Amino acid sequence: MPVKMLYQRAVDLLFPRRCPICEEPVMPKGELICPECIREIHFIKEPFCKVCGREIGSREDEICSNCRRHRFSFEYGYALMSYSDVVAHSITRIKYTGAKEYLDFYGKTAARIYGDRIKSMRVDAIVPVPVHKSRLKKRGYNQAQVLAEIMGRELGIPVYEDALYRNKKTAALKELNAAERLKNLSSAFFAGEIPKDMRSVLIVDDIFTTGATMEATSRCLKSAGVEKVYCFSLAIKSDI
Ligand SMILES: [Zn+2]
Ligand SMILES: [Zn+2]
Repeated sequence: MPVKMLYQRAVDLLFPRRCPICEEPVMPKGELICPECIREIHFIKEPFCKVCGREIGSREDEICSNCRRHRFSFEYGYALMSYSDVVAHSITRIKYTGAKEYLDFYGKTAARIYGDRIKSMRVDAIVPVPVHKSRLKKRGYNQAQVLAEIMGRELGIPVYEDALYRNKKTAALKELNAAERLKNLSSAFFAGEIPKDMRSVLIVDDIFTTGATMEATSRCLKSAGVEKVYCFSLAIKSDI
């Protein structure tokens, strides 16, 4: 075990991590989630949508109802978990109350379960969905970037956070339908400096709802010269 990992292991043993689900110190020490709490998470299982990775009811469908309605510009993507109340609560804590450490569990689990599939995409970089800089200042970190860094480290893929920027605060998307979301978001992102040899990227984000954010960022990267865009989300609503 490399020294850095040994050190992390020692720190984890001395200071147990808080569980991303119940938020209590994790027992046994050294783990990232309680053995009981991991059962509260519904990890996406097959059959899932060939485009967005959402769990679907039958294998014959291949594509979820949302992806049948919208033609996305990205190639395809995966998601780790179903968006349930427990997952929603956990992600809210990450975004708004500084519980960045919960991303260690999600990022490492994502890399473990989807590592081979992500590696087979052969992407040149992982790109996090950016937050607006005023929000970044307030929050101290961008949860998608922290997630990207954990996954990148686990999978040996570089993270490139300068590919995308967010140029204004976007209205609360919850109230809007899919078409309104996309319209609202299409002007919200702009591409940064894209290195010439960056032909394919994996965009990562926390929640995939209608796919409007992924679509807006994908279009942005493609118009800046990226040829292939894949996506990965931590949580997605199931289609059943
Ligand atoms: Zn727990
Ligand atoms: Zn889909």
